[in-house]
Amino acid sequence: MARSIFVNGRVFDGTEVLASGTSVVVEGKRITGVTQAPVETGPEDVVHDLAGKTLMPGLVQCHFHTGFGPDAGNPSPYLGHGMPAAYLGMVAAKNAQIAIDFGVTSLIGSSNGDLLDVCLKEAILLGLTKGPRVIPCTREMIASGDSADGDNRSWHMGIEHHGLIRRVDGVDNIRQAIREEVGRGCQIVKISISEGHGSQIIPEWNYISEAEIIVAVETAHSRQAMVRAHCPSRTGVIQCAHAGVDIIDHADMIDEEGIEAVVAADATITPSYLWTERFVDFAESWDYANGPFPIGNGFPESQDRTVERLAGIKRQFEHSVSMLPKMRAAGVRIVLGDDFGFAMMPHGDYASEMEVYVKYGVSPLEVMQWATRNGAQAMGRHGVDLGEVAEGKLADLVVVNGDPTTDVGVFRDPSNVQLVLTDGEVQKDLLSAVGH
Ligand SMILES: [Zn+2]
Repeated sequence: MARSIFVNGRVFDGTEVLASGTSVVVEGKRITGVTQAPVETGPEDVVHDLAGKTLMPGLVQCHFHTGFGPDAGNPSPYLGHGMPAAYLGMVAAKNAQIAIDFGVTSLIGSSNGDLLDVCLKEAILLGLTKGPRVIPCTREMIASGDSADGDNRSWHMGIEHHGLIRRVDGVDNIRQAIREEVGRGCQIVKISISEGHGSQIIPEWNYISEAEIIVAVETAHSRQAMVRAHCPSRTGVIQCAHAGVDIIDHADMIDEEGIEAVVAADATITPSYLWTERFVDFAESWDYANGPFPIGNGFPESQDRTVERLAGIKRQFEHSVSMLPKMRAAGVRIVLGDDFGFAMMPHGDYASEMEVYVKYGVSPLEVMQWATRNGAQAMGRHGVDLGEVAEGKLADLVVVNGDPTTDVGVFRDPSNVQLVLTDGEVQKDLLSAVGH
């Protein structure tokens, strides 16, 4: 079988940069050699000279809203939720291609309607569109009265089709909803714990009860599905960690008690700071002469109340940022993934999330570990077959110009991503072979 042999480049294995002079051999689906020794080549082998480039595991986007994107000028409130499912499917296919172009080889879905994630996964398997490997997510399971409840002011969240959210109250309902949606092919369940993350001040109380969280986890895990939680509140983080939630999204108000619980539970956190950072910037530059600030909780409020709310959001974001070094020191597993698809942060702007963590003191090397190794750990695949450049692992690999372990900015220009392989198959190739 013809092999691809990568020589003369920098190799980041998901944890560290290997000694210079390391060559990597890919044969079929797998990495079959990572060696310092010269590799003997045959007439069928393709040799890639990676001078000035880095070979590394493919990136993992751990909070991916498949169907978020432009809404074709439809006057629906936002995110195209008022568009028919067929349109959202095309947005999902496009987002998958954008992700591949960026070097994303795996993604873990976050809430989506119309079984978009399941259908996207199947379309990729059938060759209808290019895309990363997908862990499909359910709709967002929310309690009645949640600010995203399609029965209050957020009617557009549930309009017309199967909608982004699913209202569940009580342990019997949440159990049934999870059984149904996992039965339809979802492999991760999304539950909404509390208000907040960016647009609202986060309360201590939660929409969903601790008993409901526990049953959600029991039900999903009994069917080999994971659970992720939209969880800005302090108490929610602690309850989710205790219940065994796999991925805790945002964790804005995490404190020392929450950090301890998350580490003990071996849970993963998706801080997704970019959304909050962009929201605060947008809010601070708002000119009230143009009218009220457009993002509230669906109810009218005075300008004074808006200003007060935005100041509270900023204070809470400062708290989040202050906890980041503590989370890292305690060994919390942190991954990349944010609410891409909003107008303020379109799909493909993934480099901005990397840069925001560097801005808050995380080294580029650590951000790359979050993006690769930690992502594979969150998928339950690290040490099995993904997230490493190591013999026997699946060849989900990217080649990037420059050195992202010292400068994540190389990802800003997608043309720097020269080669993308999933399962050893070429998804993107801008490299020219130097020998045969
Ligand atoms: Zn989200």
